[in-house]
Amino acid sequence: MPRALITGGAGFLGSHLSDRLLAEGYEVVVFDNFVTGSSDNVAHLVGNPAFRLVRYDVTEYLYLDGPVDCIFHMASPASPIDFPSKPIQIMKVNGIGTMRALGLARAKGARFLLASTSEVYGDPLVHPQVEEYWGNVNPIGVRGVYDEAKRYAEALTMGYRRFHGMDTKIFRIFNTFGPRMRLDDGRVVPNFIGQALRGDPITVYGTGQQTRSFCYVSDLVDGIFRLSQTPPEVSGPINIGNPTERTMLEFAQEIKRLTASSSEIVYEDLKTVDDPKQRKPNITKAQQILGWEPKVSLEEGLQKTIEYFRGKLAEG
Ligand code: UDP
Repeated sequence: MPRALITGGAGFLGSHLSDRLLAEGYEVVVFDNFVTGSSDNVAHLVGNPAFRLVRYDVTEYLYLDGPVDCIFHMASPASPIDFPSKPIQIMKVNGIGTMRALGLARAKGARFLLASTSEVYGDPLVHPQVEEYWGNVNPIGVRGVYDEAKRYAEALTMGYRRFHGMDTKIFRIFNTFGPRMRLDDGRVVPNFIGQALRGDPITVYGTGQQTRSFCYVSDLVDGIFRLSQTPPEVSGPINIGNPTERTMLEFAQEIKRLTASSSEIVYEDLKTVDDPKQRKPNITKAQQILGWEPKVSLEEGLQKTIEYFRGKLAEG
């Protein structure tokens, strides 16, 4: 039975990845310090003999007994509302935490997969974003703590790969949504759906003309899993996301329609000055190298997510 460690495995994405790896016959160990993750996300796995959840801060000395085949470094706050409130934790988990996770992977002879982000492209001047694009990042802006930390984590991963000859892989996650996102996560999908379901105003930031491209969580996890099965020569970085692009105003209207909500759409100031004006992945590499592309349409994914949030609101 292959054995995987997922840092941040009690988060939104990490918990879905745990489900997938267990279904693929892996033994899964999750380390999480619950800064943004929650044991609720993996409560259904507790009691499964192939699953172990450990409260652990991966910026501390990192140790795990027994063999490890694969480390998925997923730990990091990732919502823009976390950037001003958790700047040091973000820098530490992507800096020191990545170093510790790489060190453990090296000691175990394990494959290392880094969860990176489309934020490494900053406010991109190339559209759609290809992996070769080096990005347009403001290092001292509010987003800098996340963007630069992830860029550092990528550089560190490549440094370990080249210097120690390790098997490492970097994937860049574009906006992803689905069940287990927190209603108060602050990102646009839970905000808009929560507002629409409560009948509160739907808050479009800025002009609403900025774009994002949304990927349903099962598709994203499938891309990550496929990447984890590739030979050592495959290092990435590789974009994983859904190229279906919307302006935030269009997106607000779509959610209003799908929830049959009577909420009004209102405008608020942008929360971060360097909010990217456009974002859409070029997924040619994922298609060619992983044979992957998204299967769940935006509407289908949103329907499932709306049902999930409806249930959460009913629970109170
Ligand atoms: N946004 C918005 N209203 C909200 C939350 C976010 O208009 O209530 C916008 C935000 O300004 C950004 C986009 O939606 O342009 C996506 O924001 P999110 O926080 O989901 O993540 P980002 O892609 O910026 O990291």
